[in-house]
Amino acid sequence: MKHHSLAVIPGDGIGPEIMNEAMKVLQLIEEMHGGFKFDIQSFNWNCEYYLKHGKMMPDNGMEILKDFDVILFGAVGEPRVPDHISVWELILPIRKTFEQYVNMRPIKLLKGLESPLRHKSHDDLDFVVIRENTEGEYSNMGGRLHQNTPYEIAVQNNVFTRYGTERIVKYAYEYASCHNVKRLTAATKSNAMNHSMTFWDDIVKEISQQYNTIETNLYHIDALAAYFVSNPEKFDVVVASNLFGDILTDLGAAIVGGLGLAPSGNINPEQKYPSMFEPIHGSAPDIAGKGIANPIAQIWSVGMMMDHLGYSELNHLILESIENVLVDGKVRTPDLGGTATTSDMGDAILERLRTLLESEREQVH
Ligand code: NAD
Ligand code: MN
Repeated sequence: MKHHSLAVIPGDGIGPEIMNEAMKVLQLIEEMHGGFKFDIQSFNWNCEYYLKHGKMMPDNGMEILKDFDVILFGAVGEPRVPDHISVWELILPIRKTFEQYVNMRPIKLLKGLESPLRHKSHDDLDFVVIRENTEGEYSNMGGRLHQNTPYEIAVQNNVFTRYGTERIVKYAYEYASCHNVKRLTAATKSNAMNHSMTFWDDIVKEISQQYNTIETNLYHIDALAAYFVSNPEKFDVVVASNLFGDILTDLGAAIVGGLGLAPSGNINPEQKYPSMFEPIHGSAPDIAGKGIANPIAQIWSVGMMMDHLGYSELNHLILESIENVLVDGKVRTPDLGGTATTSDMGDAILERLRTLLESEREQVH
C-alpha cells in the first residue's frame, strides 16, 4: 500500500471549521479506495500560536514541513494579529521556500449554481488562472522612511526575475498545450509599469513563439478585470503575476458564486518540495465561530491534492459529489442562499461521495 505524508495546517477563523469537513472526506476516500494511506500530522500554527510564542511557526517549521509529500492548508489571519504578520510569517514563506511557483486557480461555474452574471452559462465560465506565486509584487523588498512624519515614504519593490517569469509563463503555455487550449491570456500593465511589465510582456512574446498554435492575448489588468465580468467566455488559460492573479481570482470566484467555492493548488511542478492545497479565501472573521462557512473550497482543494498525487479519478468523484449536492439544492450554506451549517454541507457531500465510491466499487467487482 502506498503511503503519503500529509501536513495539515487548519489556521484561524473558519480555517479549522472547513478543515474538519475536508478531513472527513479524506478519511472516507482512504477507507473506500484501499490503495493508499495518509500519514497525517496536524500543526496548530496560527495567530493563537503567534500570541503565545511571538511567531507564527517554530524556527524549524520549514524544516519540519519539507519532508511531507503534501500540505493541506485552511486559512490564516485574525484581528488580534496584523495581517502582514500572519501572511508573511506563514503562508508566503511556505509558497516561496518550497518553490510553489504555480498557483493554480480554477474558475468554474459548478452544476446547480447560477452565475451572478446574467446570461452566462456553464460553458462561458470554465477556465483557469495560473498565478505566479513566489515573486513579483509580493517581494518583501522596500521600506518605510521617516515614519509618522509628513515626509514619510513607503516603497514596495516589484521583483521580476527572468528565471521566475519564464518558468511561470512556460508552465502556462505547457498547461494550455496539454489541455488542447487554443487561447492564452496574459495579464499585464505595461502601459504604466514600464519596467516590470514590459519585461513580463517580452517574456510572454518570446515563449509564445514556441507555441504557434496557441493564440496569445495580452490584456491590461484593468480591462481584463472588466472582461471577467462582461466576457468571461473569452478565457481558457490566464497567466498573471502574483498581485494581479490574486485580485483576478477573488473576482473569478465571485463570478462563479463566491469565495466559499474556490480552491487552489500551490504547486512545485518539479516535486522537489511539497505542494500545498488551500481555498483561495481567507479566514473570514465576520462569520468565524458560527459554523456557517461553506466547506466546498476546502473539500475541492482535497480533490486537487488527490489529482496532484496521481488519483485524478478521486478528484472527479469529489467534484461530482459537490455538484450533485448543489444540483439537489436542499443543502446550502448561507453564502449560497440557504440555511445549512458547515457540517450539514460537509455531510451531504460525504454521503454523495460514499454512494459514488460504492457504485465504482461494484463496477470493478
Ligand atoms: P476573506 O476571504 O476571509 O473574506 C472575504 C468575504 O468572503 C467575507 O465576507 C467572508 O465571510 C466571505 N467568505 C470567505 N470564505 C468563505 C466561505 N468559505 N464561506 C462563506 N463565506 C466566505 O477575506 P478578508 O476578509 O479580506 O480577510 C480575512 C482574513 O483572512 C485576513 O486576516 C486576511 O489577511 C486573511 N487572508 C488569508 C488568506 C490565506 O490564508 N491564504 C487569504 C486571504 C486573506
Ligand atoms: Mn487572495
